[in-house]
Amino acid sequence: MNKVLILNTGGTFGMVQGDAGLTPAADLESRLREQVSQLEHHSFDLIDLNPLIDSSDLRVEDWSRICEMILNAQHSYTGFVVIHGTDTLAYTASALSFALRGLSQPVVVTGSQYPLGVEGSDAPTNLLDSLNLVAQPNTVGVRVCFGGLNLQANRVRKVDAQDYVAFQMPNGEVSYNNEVAQPVNLNYQTGAVALILVYPGISAAVIDGVLQDDRLRAIILLSFGSGNIPTAGSDFGEALKRAHATGVLLVNMTQCLKGRVIQGAYETGALLAELGALPGFDMTPEAAFAKLHYLFAKGADKKAIEAQWQQSLCGELS
Ligand code: ASP
Repeated sequence: MNKVLILNTGGTFGMVQGDAGLTPAADLESRLREQVSQLEHHSFDLIDLNPLIDSSDLRVEDWSRICEMILNAQHSYTGFVVIHGTDTLAYTASALSFALRGLSQPVVVTGSQYPLGVEGSDAPTNLLDSLNLVAQPNTVGVRVCFGGLNLQANRVRKVDAQDYVAFQMPNGEVSYNNEVAQPVNLNYQTGAVALILVYPGISAAVIDGVLQDDRLRAIILLSFGSGNIPTAGSDFGEALKRAHATGVLLVNMTQCLKGRVIQGAYETGALLAELGALPGFDMTPEAAFAKLHYLFAKGADKKAIEAQWQQSLCGELS
């Protein structure tokens, strides 16, 4: 047995033109077998997520559906390829890296910038590359294979909206031991984590707005530079104090593509340190978002989250 399961979640890869633009479509397996002759050399089954989604419609509950399909099939396949839309691929790839730690088979997440069947589409190459990668004995854990690159799932960011090389690892790769955990399927809670871009003049209203949602448990702030926020003449900090007082966890991440938060280096970052905000280290925002959801779904309380936050669970931070 050397068979791979391809799990199609939707995304541009298998999309066709609908009335208002590209939309997910069924029959991907027959279209692939018809159009990509090199697939004859690969042994695979393909199943669709039901319903297929444009990954911009992804909800964190979809991570459970993807994990469930992989875990249910784990004894029948030597590896898994997940076809996913590129828009939120970095979030799902990160989420899978946490949930599927310890899975004996490799998982490769891919997608394409242009639909199968369109001239110059990257769909066939990305799929063939992924099938080759998943078959290699040294492929471990969850990887992203896209635009000719083999990337660590929880270190990727979508860096280009059109180019074939859509994903990069701005802060590089981090090695980790995949065997120390058991894969789990979890019930993720939509709305538990908010991700907010700090901008010049950001006001308390932005934070007060997300605090209206009583499902909220953590706010990830994408702050300036090494972890700074507006302070002088701003009511923003007051709202962060209100958030902290209601028990919402604050995370301070840099909005820079590269580098890490050094909380407290500037006075403008001092309040976050005072409020016990967790620094995001050199994690990607997508990995931080997925890690918080993972820890919340595992039932971790604030103390346990604070302890595990700074540990690399599967190479998400260096
Ligand atoms: N909107 C699409 C998606 O993320 C974009 C893509 O797949 O490239 O599903």
